[in-house]
Order: sequence, then structure tokens, then C-alpha cells
Amino acid sequence: MSPIELNKRQEEILRIVKGNGPITGEQIADRLNLTRATLRPDLAILTMAGFLDARPRVGYFYSGKKPGSDITDTMNNMKVKDFQSIPIVVREDVNVYDAISQMFLDDVGTLFVVDKNACLTGVLSRKDLLRTSLGKQDLTTIPVHIIMTRMPNITYCMKNDSLIKAATRLINRQIDALPVVQEHPEGLKVIGRLTKTNITRAFLSLSESHEL
Ligand code: ADP
Repeated sequence: MSPIELNKRQEEILRIVKGNGPITGEQIADRLNLTRATLRPDLAILTMAGFLDARPRVGYFYSGKKPGSDITDTMNNMKVKDFQSIPIVVREDVNVYDAISQMFLDDVGTLFVVDKNACLTGVLSRKDLLRTSLGKQDLTTIPVHIIMTRMPNITYCMKNDSLIKAATRLINRQIDALPVVQEHPEGLKVIGRLTKTNITRAFLSLSESHEL
């Protein structure tokens, strides 16, 4: 198995940390004129591959050791929390017309449906909404809870799950997105969204030749 190859930005981060560590993610981002969020996948890869060490409240520093990890180990160590997106949620009583508008406004393909406690009750995909639009009914009169896929049939993941586990669920269930949830006394709080795009981005971050 081949050792992991770094992309240009990852090389740049490594140089910054070598010269300035310990340094926070925020400070690295400032030097590169990027946001901390943009850098998160690269920092995760560098840490998982053993190039960098990270200490809470101290920052990143160069580990000095040779990266012991090959690409398979790195992939197995990639976590949902490092690649997830912001979830777009709607309430159960929102009507189908407004849900469609929401999907366009937020430029997402999957909406998560929540109850009054902000806990997960359903999922709405593009085709769920399209199917309803084929009917002759007035879309403003149909609440989304009528057409959504509902709990307990929702496939979800947790922020500390491996990305491989989440990707396996996406493929096995033939779906585009998983809600990232956190257990709560009232139910499952939606804290993120993991889509096939996130998996593709993670895949790209393993390559040396991409520019994000
Ligand atoms: P699309 O229907 O736009 O191709 P998906 O493949 O994601 O999008 O959805 C297919 C079906 O699976 C839809 O009926 C949707 O409600 C349901 N679905 C989507 N995501 C999930 C999920 N995480 N858990 C359970 N069902 C889901």
C-alpha cells in the first residue's frame, strides 16, 4: 500500500506548522487567507496521517516523526465531523410548496424534518417532493409529514463515526444524505448533514493533485 501523498495546500500547512508551531487552526487559516472551516479536512488528514499532532487549547505542531500511516489507515481514521455540512431542517407542518422553496434557497438535495423539540422525525428528498408535485393537489395544502420518510426508518450517523461507515450506509441504502445526530432525552437532535458530495470531497482531499 502506498504512503499518503499530500496536496499543495497540505504541504503549505505543513511548512507553516514546521516554522511556527504550536499554532492554532485559526492562525494557520489567517496565514493562508482561508477560513478555519475550509482547512478542517486538510488538518484532519495531516493529523490522521501522523504529520501533525494537535493538542487542545495549544494548537498544531509538527510531529517530527515519519508518517507511519498508509492511505488505508488514513481513510479509516477520517471522521464524519471533519467533513459534514450544515443541516437544513424544516418543521413537520411546513407545506410541500415551502419545502421545495427551501431546497432551492439553501441549494441542498435533502431536507431533514424536525418536531417542536428540534428532534429528527423525517427526511425529504428531491424525488419525494417531485413525486408530490406530479399530483393535481395544491402543494400549499400538503404538510411535509404526509410525504416524508419517517422515523424509525431513517438512516443516520454520529459525528464521531468513521466516514467509511457513513459512506457504506449511503451506498447500501441507496440514498444521498445522512443526518448527523446527537442523542438527547427528547430524541435525536440534528447537528449535521453528510452527503455524497462530502464523501467526494474527502476522497479528493486524499489526492495530491487537487485544488479545492
Ligand atoms: P432522491 O429521491 O432525490 O434520489 P435519495 O436517493 O436520497 O434522493 O432518496 C430516496 C428515498 O430515500 C426518498 O424517499 C427519501 O425520503 C429516502 N431517504 C433519503 N435519505 C434517507 C435517510 N437518511 N434515511 C432513510 N431514508 C432516506
